[in-house]
Amino acid sequence: MSEKIQPDALKLVFDEPKQRVKPPKHFADLDPAGRKELALELGIPAFRANQVATHFFTHFNDDTQTWTDIPKEMRSLMAEKFTPKLMTLVRTVECDGGTTRKDLWRLHDGVLVESVLMRYSDRTTVCVSSQAGCGMNCPFCATGQAGLTRNLTAGEITAQVVAAARTCANGDLPGGPTRLSNVVFMGMGEPLANYNAVMRAVRNITAPAPDGLGIGARSVTVSTVGLVSGIEKLMKEDLPITLAVSLHTPDDELRDTLVPINSRWNVKEVLTAADNYANKTGRRYSIEYAMIRDINDQAWRSDLLGRLLKNRNAHVNLIPLNPTPGSKWTASRSTDEATFVQILEGYGVPVTVRDTRGREIDGACGQLAAAERSPEPNGATDSK
Ligand code: SAH
Repeated sequence: MSEKIQPDALKLVFDEPKQRVKPPKHFADLDPAGRKELALELGIPAFRANQVATHFFTHFNDDTQTWTDIPKEMRSLMAEKFTPKLMTLVRTVECDGGTTRKDLWRLHDGVLVESVLMRYSDRTTVCVSSQAGCGMNCPFCATGQAGLTRNLTAGEITAQVVAAARTCANGDLPGGPTRLSNVVFMGMGEPLANYNAVMRAVRNITAPAPDGLGIGARSVTVSTVGLVSGIEKLMKEDLPITLAVSLHTPDDELRDTLVPINSRWNVKEVLTAADNYANKTGRRYSIEYAMIRDINDQAWRSDLLGRLLKNRNAHVNLIPLNPTPGSKWTASRSTDEATFVQILEGYGVPVTVRDTRGREIDGACGQLAAAERSPEPNGATDSK
């Protein structure tokens, strides 16, 4: 594991957060028509909005002073009104020989969020945050412990993706330059609780050039605790993004504790919404299941899950629990995990066990930001 600390950013970490002011307006907050309108309002010809978009979404370049196709006198105005700086890199932590890197960002109001970039043999994925903190209060999740600070803007979400795409294009990951191919909303926050900003960001990610990064909708995954109203809205978007549902247990009794929003929309209601989404989009959905030792990993729960899912268009993704600091819960024994998989497979349910990439860099969502907020004597960045 190696770590690079950006000297300029460090002093910002320890500054008192300023009184909450809105993030600067960024052109990634707007749809393509809105970007042209903004240009006209500023006295800039509408076609220039496409040039801005090309610099930002195709070349990942937000330094207007280097935009040689833009008249010099326009560049400062564009920097202020189109691409204001939304976030500063505080630190980067790497593992897996540099193929996994986690970036900690400080937003304009002192708020900290994380994104994680992972290079695999066949794809490169960025995991982004949609909120600073989270209001869903799942007891095993580091982000949930601190509650919700605020929603991120579409610009702030998009900026995480653009930064990752730039890292890929610059060849900053081992293996040389590559293309960012996948985006997963599995960082901090509940994406469907910040619906409009997340959808604007998804459009920025999927729209072909010049309006967006041109990443296929199928390569974008939105992971949710199961906000049924949000899943129903998503269904109407006509955008075949992949849905992941954090189920974590097939029974309402335990799910009420593990995913408290279950008392609003229970297992049956969540699965019905996901089925409708799958029927509408033709996309198989994922069931996320954190394996917690002796809590949700019993054979009978696997059997119940298998019966629930055997005729559904779903795939189970088992995630060995990444214990959060101070938690009494830990990951399942490998024998229990193997039995769990075997039972599911017996029902013909596709199942994978997620690799534990990033574990040594506090890869579980929220852990790096939590460590930064409350530095401990043994060092905020020690691996767990
Ligand atoms: N709010 C969204 C995205 C959260 S993070 C959601 O709940 O789906 C993505 C996944 O990581 C979720 O399935 C979440 O439950 C899981 N997760 C959170 N903390 C974890 C931990 N400590 N160990 C393993 N998985 C965890």
